[in-house]
Amino acid sequence: MRTQVGIVGAGPAGLLLSQLLHLQGIETVILERRSREYVEGRIRAGVLEQGTVDLLEEAQVGARMRRLGLVHEGIEISFRGERHRIDFRALTGKTVTVYGQTEITRDLIAARLGAGGKIVFEAEDVSVHDFDRDRPKIRFRKDGRARELVCDFIGGCDGFHGVCRGSVPQDALTVHERTYPFAWLGILSQTPPVSDELIYCHHERGFALFSMRSPGLSRLYIQCAPDESLDQWPDARIWDELRARLGGDAAAALQSGPSLEKSVTPMRSFVAEPMRFGRLFLAGDAAHIVPPTGAKGLNLAVADVRVLARALAEFYASGRSDLIEAYSDTCVRRVWKAQRFSWWMTSMLHRFPGRNPFEDQLQLAELDYVTGSKAASTALAENYVGLPLQ
Ligand SMILES: Cc1cc2nc3c(=O)[nH]c(=O)nc-3n(C[C@H](O)[C@H](O)[C@H](O)COP(=O)(O)OP(=O)(O)OC[C@H]3O[C@@H](n4cnc5c(N)ncnc54)[C@H](O)[C@@H]3O)c2cc1C
Repeated sequence: MRTQVGIVGAGPAGLLLSQLLHLQGIETVILERRSREYVEGRIRAGVLEQGTVDLLEEAQVGARMRRLGLVHEGIEISFRGERHRIDFRALTGKTVTVYGQTEITRDLIAARLGAGGKIVFEAEDVSVHDFDRDRPKIRFRKDGRARELVCDFIGGCDGFHGVCRGSVPQDALTVHERTYPFAWLGILSQTPPVSDELIYCHHERGFALFSMRSPGLSRLYIQCAPDESLDQWPDARIWDELRARLGGDAAAALQSGPSLEKSVTPMRSFVAEPMRFGRLFLAGDAAHIVPPTGAKGLNLAVADVRVLARALAEFYASGRSDLIEAYSDTCVRRVWKAQRFSWWMTSMLHRFPGRNPFEDQLQLAELDYVTGSKAASTALAENYVGLPLQ
């Protein structure tokens, strides 16, 4: 098999890269380890920056998002039992859109397959080779048969646990990592959200987030221990905990229902750089992970792909390789800004086990300042709606 750009992974990064390149007349093949049903059913991110929305429109996959996405003009932050609104539109002129990653994935798969694009689902034993030479190769097994895909470039879009990053010689890679002493227990429930906007709750029992995917579907999270067992969390206990952390009239108004999905997500900050090795490009979670407090993971993956698609399109159109050479530096600067914001939101809102009362007071003072000062609220808002794309 032969293609121009071989892509490993059919998450948002790989699918969007394939779609953007297709619109430039560049051929791709995507190799995905999981089945289509599994990929389309995976519940993950849901808050899109304006730049992400614009790029999905540019990629011609915006129709359902336009119809079903919920435009949010702000968020609320709750602490000391009171809620404070950060008004994104007033502070920055911009908004965010709530539209599930699951829906984006479905839209992109439908667009690629509808245009005759090639996605090999359930590709086993994928491995990448010769990306330090002119003709990289991707080897894999499908239906028990060994196959080889020869290409000009490889998009390593295979997420944090993929094979691409691990195929780079370890001395060529610098890894920065921080793990947090807590995780998020998340549930998805067919219940109306308690508020029209997301509520981020700082509470002495731990952080909670009240979020949604649609007017009838709530996505809720509570801070828990990283090794928490789901067996200890029947639905009723989760709802009780959510009510306790939300407090006030809203707690009484919170409608509970059975969980459709329940999972524990560890919290980690991770950056591997550079993001290019010869003809292999890492994009999205394959290169970096952020704690979800800043809602940046999916948005960062999209931003990488935007830079990469433009660099490859320029190469095929004119033979120029300067954008390819700049790919890693261009992405990494923005990645670190999103890392900083995600770390800051996480540090400000969570309860750190074993932390002393002085630090707890500093945390509350920071929340007071952020919600009380226009300058500080603007700093939060402009990061949340998304810093300018390159
Ligand atoms: C449980 C969870 C909850 C999250 N919640 C949020 C949130 O609320 N907000 C937010 O902004 N972000 C969230 N994120 C992060 C966000 O979902 C990711 O940043 C986003 O999915 C990154 O997209 P990606 O395409 O880079 O990687 P992925 O979505 O991970 O896609 C990688 C793809 O590669 C495939 N793959 C992996 N290994 C191989 C292989 N060896 N061969 C072939 N294919 C392979 C995988 O099956 C997958 O389909 C969450 C992540 C997780 C795991």
